Amino acid sequence: MTQSQADYGEVIDAISRFLTSPPEGTPNEVIEAFDLFGGGGDFLPPKLFLETVEQAPVAISITDPKARILYVNSAFERLTGYARDQVVGANQSVLSSKSTPKEVYQELWTTIAERRVWRGTLVNHRHGGNEYLAELTVSPVLAPNGEIAYFLGMHHDISEMHAMQQRLSFQKKLTDIALDDAPMVVAMISGDGTLLLENRRYTALKKVWPEEPAQLFIQALERQLGQNLHDVCALDEGFTNQEIRIEGEAGSPRWYSCSGVRIAGFDDAASSYFQSPDARRCSLLLIANEVTASRERINQARMNMIRSNMAEQQMVQTMREALSASIFKMQAPINIIRAAISMSATSDNASMAGVLRQALESGEEAMETLRNVLPEARIEQHANTNINELLHDVLRLSTDPLLAAGVVVDWRAAPVLPTLTGRPNALRAAFKYLVDNAIQALNESDNDYREMRLETRAEGGEIEIAIMDNGPGIAEADIFKVFEPFYCGWQQPRGHAGMGLTLAQELINDHGGGIEIDCDFMGGCRIFICLPLERGEETG
Ligand code: FAD
Repeated sequence: MTQSQADYGEVIDAISRFLTSPPEGTPNEVIEAFDLFGGGGDFLPPKLFLETVEQAPVAISITDPKARILYVNSAFERLTGYARDQVVGANQSVLSSKSTPKEVYQELWTTIAERRVWRGTLVNHRHGGNEYLAELTVSPVLAPNGEIAYFLGMHHDISEMHAMQQRLSFQKKLTDIALDDAPMVVAMISGDGTLLLENRRYTALKKVWPEEPAQLFIQALERQLGQNLHDVCALDEGFTNQEIRIEGEAGSPRWYSCSGVRIAGFDDAASSYFQSPDARRCSLLLIANEVTASRERINQARMNMIRSNMAEQQMVQTMREALSASIFKMQAPINIIRAAISMSATSDNASMAGVLRQALESGEEAMETLRNVLPEARIEQHANTNINELLHDVLRLSTDPLLAAGVVVDWRAAPVLPTLTGRPNALRAAFKYLVDNAIQALNESDNDYREMRLETRAEGGEIEIAIMDNGPGIAEADIFKVFEPFYCGWQQPRGHAGMGLTLAQELINDHGGGIEIDCDFMGGCRIFICLPLERGEETG
C-alpha cells in the first residue's frame, strides 16, 4: 500500500486539530515536537509540516479512533522495522507483544476513551520479531463536534536504559548483600560528615549507641591519628588497622580495628563535564572490625597482672607499716637506755654503764637493720592513660563487693575520651579508694535500692570524673575533715585506717588535678575529680 498525497491531508488535519487544542495532560515534549509546525493557527504549509514530522527523531504514528494506522514517520520505520506501506491501514496492535499484560492495554484504552493523554511503557515487537521496550504517549485529537477524530502516538525505545537500570539495580543488590553479610561494620561518610552508605552491622549499632556511630568512630579515629579525617581522606592517605575503643551500651567497651579508604567524589552536573575532579570532594569508606573478644582476653591477662601488682603493693605497704611501727616502738626503750647511761655516768657503777652502752649499741644496730630492710616505695613511669579504662579496671576489681552489696552500677562514661599522660597504677589506686568508699557507704545505708553512678567527660583540656552513691552522704561540716589522715567516720570502722581519701587526694594532686565533695547528691555523696590532659605530675 502506498501512502498517497491525498492521505497526507488527513494527517495534517489530525495534527492541526491536536495543536489547536492539545488535550489536558499532553506532555510538553509532544507539543514541542510539533512546534515547528506553528501555533495559534498560524501553521506551516502542509509540505513543510510533513518534512518536520518526517524528520522528528521520535517514532510518530497517527491513527483513526480504532487505532488503525493512517500515517507513520521515518523514525517509526527505523525503530519498528516495518516499512510504511506494511503498516498503514493496519491496527497499532501489529506492534503488540504477548509480554505486555492485558490490563495495561485496558488502562490505555480507558484513559484515551475519556479523551485524556495516556503515557506508559509497553513491550513491542519489531518486524523481525525481536522485542523492545517502548515508552509511549497517546494523545486523543478531537473533531469540532467533540468526538475523537484521531489518536497521535509517539514512542521511543527505552530498552537500553531499562537494561542499564536493571544491571545497576542488580549490582546494587549484590553490593548490598555482600556488605550486609560482611562480618564488619562498613560505612561511607562524605567530607561533610553525611552518612552515604551503611551495612547491617552499622545499623545495629545505631540502635544501641547514644550517638550516630559514624560520629563516634570519627571522634575516636581523629584522636588516635591526631589528624582531621577529612584531611587524611583528601590527601589520599587512608589508614589501616587503627585500634580504637568506644564505650558501648551497658558500660561495656567495644574495640574496633579500623581501616579507611578514600573514595573520590563525583560531580554529575553537566557544567563539570570538562573540569578535572576536585581532589577535596571525596568520601571515606570506613571498615571497622570488632576485636572486643581478643581485647577482652588480653584485658583478662592484664587484670590478673594488675591484681597481683596491687596485692604486692599492699604487702609492701603492710610491711612498711609494720616495720615503721617496730622502729617507732624500739625507739622508746633505746631512749630510756640512753638516759640511764647519762645517769650512770655520774655514779660509781662503771660496770652498769658498760652493760647499758652494750645494750644501746645492739639496740641501735637492730634499728639500723630494720631501717635497711624497709622496702622501697615503687616509682612508676608515666604512660598514655585512658580514664574510662582505669575506671573499668576498678569496677572489675570490685565486682565481688559490688555484687555482695547489691549495688546497681550506672555507667555514664563519655563514649570517647582523650588519653592523658599519667601514672596508671597510681590513678587506678586513687579510683579504687573512692569506689571502695562508695561501696562501704552503700553497705551502711538503709536504702533498698543501692546505686553507684560513674560519669566521665572531656571538658576544656580536662577530664572530669564523678563518682556518686546514694548512701548516707557526708555532712557538710566534714567535707574537708574527711581528707585528713586517720580520719574515720564509718559506723563500722574495722579494717579502715582513715587513709583512703588522704591518699586519693595526694595521688590526684600529684597529677595536677583536684578532688571535691558534693555532700548532697541523691541524698548521698558525689565526688568530683578533674585531671588536666596536658600537665603531667610534678612529684614522685
Ligand atoms: P486488543 O484486542 O487489540 O486490545 C486489548 C484490550 O484493549 C481490549 O481488551 C480492550 O480492553 C482494549 N481495546 C482495544 N481496542 C480498543 C478500542 N478501539 N476501544 C476501546 N478499547 C479497546 N499497542 C502496542 O502494543 N504497541 C504500540 O506501540 C501501540 N501504540 C499505539 C498507538 C496509538 C495511537 C493507539 C491508539 C494504540 C496503540 N497501541 C499500541 C494499542 C493497540 O491498539 C492495541 O490495543 C494493543 O496493541 C493490544 O492489542 P491486542 O491485539 O493484543 O489486543
